[in-house]
Amino acid sequence: MAILEAPLRLRLDGDALARNWRALDRLSGDAACGAAVKADGYGLGVTQVVPRLIDAGCRDFFVATWAEALEIAEMTEGLSLTVFHGVRAADMPTAKAGHARPCLNSPEQVQRWQQMGGAPCDVMVDTGMNRLGLTPEQVSGGILKGLNVHTLMSHLACSDEPSHPLNRQQREALAWIGERASAKRLSLANSAGVALGGDYAFGLTRPGLSLYGGIQVPRLENEIASVVAVEAEVIQRRTAKAGETVGYGATFRAPANTELAILHIGYADGYLRGFSGSGMAHFGEVECPVVGRVSMDLIAVSVDACPQVAEGDWIAVDYDLPTAAAQSGLSQYELLTGLGRRYQRLWI
Ligand SMILES: *Cc1c(COP(=O)(O)O)cnc(C)c1O
Repeated sequence: MAILEAPLRLRLDGDALARNWRALDRLSGDAACGAAVKADGYGLGVTQVVPRLIDAGCRDFFVATWAEALEIAEMTEGLSLTVFHGVRAADMPTAKAGHARPCLNSPEQVQRWQQMGGAPCDVMVDTGMNRLGLTPEQVSGGILKGLNVHTLMSHLACSDEPSHPLNRQQREALAWIGERASAKRLSLANSAGVALGGDYAFGLTRPGLSLYGGIQVPRLENEIASVVAVEAEVIQRRTAKAGETVGYGATFRAPANTELAILHIGYADGYLRGFSGSGMAHFGEVECPVVGRVSMDLIAVSVDACPQVAEGDWIAVDYDLPTAAAQSGLSQYELLTGLGRRYQRLWI
């Protein structure tokens, strides 16, 4: 059977991924630096991401679910793997196999794990996010009695706003709990949290977004390199005549004859409608702005400045995360995790 070549692809820079981890590791000081690889390695492909991070020196991995843990259990054998969402009754048979530790979030999960007897676990304590986790009072009151707690962690709500007062409150709350619970180590910082400085690193940091090129704070601008580049193939070239419109809703009207390339990418590929009329593509150095609405599988870009572009050519669709987030109104997280299944993922 012939191998189908996808008409859209991601170029993924494995060296940049490794360099980003090493930069975050350095910024973590004496603390170990782990990696959040949930949601299929933030959309890049977890089975490609994890071995590269192991080669770079990473020893602590985090996923959201047991299904995600099983996907990388073999490659993380002997390393530290944590399931953020803890353990439901239905997860217990999988959890008993011991490939990963649950991060216990609620009294119910704590009780379920206590009945297991002795197997190591992590614990989430809520210090201001009101998402997952035990309260500080539950922990200081002794709810973890009899548990073998490896990492006691909390999660920052506002790390991307370095001066937000909640950051310091959460750091102080975790330090307070750390003195009243017995855990091998404490952990607080996600990517932007690493940039908050040494006080926030505790024994282990847990970056995700910035491994994959996300930058939310100025402190990381010169440290983090882009990992993902998006390219799509031209499937038709056409001319929109002066006064004609382009795409659904006829939102773009050509002011003069306009040369268009129709590219094989759309909102089903995570290139969401927020890029309509605001996204940018490049053919070599030449800018090709997105015109009209993004369709499910197609976009139109203006190629007035590229007379040579033809069917079958590849065009780079700008996906620099901070810029693309500003263009589309999406978060950098959404831009990564929305990347669909139709791309060929080429690691370079
Ligand atoms: C996703 C996640 C992280 C990683 O956060 P980033 O902002 O992507 O660096 C860290 N800790 C927890 C609990 C998470 O859910």
